[in-house]
Amino acid sequence: MNYNSTRNKNRVVSASQAIAQGISEEGGLFVPQELPRYSVDDIRELLSADYRGRAKKIMGDFLPDFSAEEISESVDAAYTAEKFGGSDPAPISYIESGDRKMALLELWHGPTCAFKDMALQILPHLLTKSVKKTCSDKEAVILVATSGDTGKAALEGFRDVDGTKIMVFYPVDGVSPMQKRQMATQKGENVSVVAIKGNFDDAQTGVKKIFTDNAIKEKLAENDMLFSSANSINWGRLLPQIVYYFSAYCEMVNEGRIALGDKINVCVPTGNFGNILASFYAMNMGLPVNKFICASNSNNVLTDFIKTGTYDKKRHFYTTISPSMDILVSSNLERLLYHLSGEDDKKVASFMASLSSEGAYTVDEEIKASLEKYFWGGYCNDADTQKTIGDLYRNENYLADTHTAVAVNVYEQYVSETGDNTPVVIASTASPYKFAKAVLSAVTDGELPSDEFAMVDELSAKTGTEIPAPLAGLKNAQERFSFECAVDEMAQTVLSGLGIN
Ligand SMILES: *Cc1c(COP(=O)(O)O)cnc(C)c1O
Repeated sequence: MNYNSTRNKNRVVSASQAIAQGISEEGGLFVPQELPRYSVDDIRELLSADYRGRAKKIMGDFLPDFSAEEISESVDAAYTAEKFGGSDPAPISYIESGDRKMALLELWHGPTCAFKDMALQILPHLLTKSVKKTCSDKEAVILVATSGDTGKAALEGFRDVDGTKIMVFYPVDGVSPMQKRQMATQKGENVSVVAIKGNFDDAQTGVKKIFTDNAIKEKLAENDMLFSSANSINWGRLLPQIVYYFSAYCEMVNEGRIALGDKINVCVPTGNFGNILASFYAMNMGLPVNKFICASNSNNVLTDFIKTGTYDKKRHFYTTISPSMDILVSSNLERLLYHLSGEDDKKVASFMASLSSEGAYTVDEEIKASLEKYFWGGYCNDADTQKTIGDLYRNENYLADTHTAVAVNVYEQYVSETGDNTPVVIASTASPYKFAKAVLSAVTDGELPSDEFAMVDELSAKTGTEIPAPLAGLKNAQERFSFECAVDEMAQTVLSGLGIN
């Protein structure tokens, strides 16, 4: 199996090239040329496997230039009971009330308490092996611009991984107190964290500039290094996410919640469209899915797109209590457009050109029809998000984070509008303790303490839920990184950080 670029079908690369390179030269994203197909009998065979067994089978089918040992080694190193707080890295909590059957797929039991760990714990293994296969013995330098969750998950994934260095840039005033503390206390010999005096866009633009600066690239090459990317345009981040949809389905069958072959719905709180796209790939491989429910916060560009066929990023940007979904350009939508258009690379390239020049594009009737066939979009503002957190806690004794609550709220809207009660898998994407302030104020009427860790303690005392160990440990952790730099000093900071200036 090889991979194509969404903007140029003539570009064909191997799986390891796609992962090592991250993004195609002309800006397209790599997509598999064909998908492995699983019959109901094939899914039956996955029932008796554990998460890791399922991951080995599914990922192996996408990575023909990896040996079975390499896949096995990567999966076993990534999804340990120690890192994920138990033998199942993605456990399910069921909420069944009335005719609602919700399976909350908890993807946040990893080291950084957000779903990004599901991919970023294994990506370093896939990436270092891919670099070895394609570019011999160079050291991979991972640069990340983050608005919070990705940076920490990437740091934790790449920490002390041989043959890699990682440097994360975050906006000095643009992340939550907990996220800042998570990054500032990061352990590892090959990591560095820099706060930049600017916003997230400045950080991202700065990183992109460094990636494409030929003088810097040459300097790296002279020192046997190369840049690589850990953000969600890399196929190596999407692939591990396909696994948990199959695995959740198997668990539901094993527990008698559904029968093998039954259809499910899938509802995902969405930002960059990576997580929900992984479930769409799963369906195209044979997972029985009826509908994909795409949940957004007030940055509802995707809701409008699914309803109208016009993607228009020219709108107000809201800073919300679900910050990991505060995004107006959902990069992975490009992959969906490629598949829904019948793999029309020219059409995708023209949509993307129009998005960058006009800030908008409109798809044709055919794409719009298949978009509507598979997807339903809805959104939820901050007040309704907090109301949902409160209702879920009081009525179901389930404590959800802000992102998960957006999904539950939008799912309820979907059922009210359509009457479709198909059992649903809802992606639960972060621990409520990562967003303690918003969650605590949703479940109490009292005044909030001002200190982040006092809020964390109070949330635990009030709800009787456990503070995840990785977050509890931050309270007394040593701060290692307090370095701040100006936006125009980023390139110099990278070079001196690598010791090659
Ligand atoms: C990144 C993130 C999302 C959005 O996921 P996408 O794959 O970008 O759509 C949702 N919730 C949380 C907690 C996240 O960290």
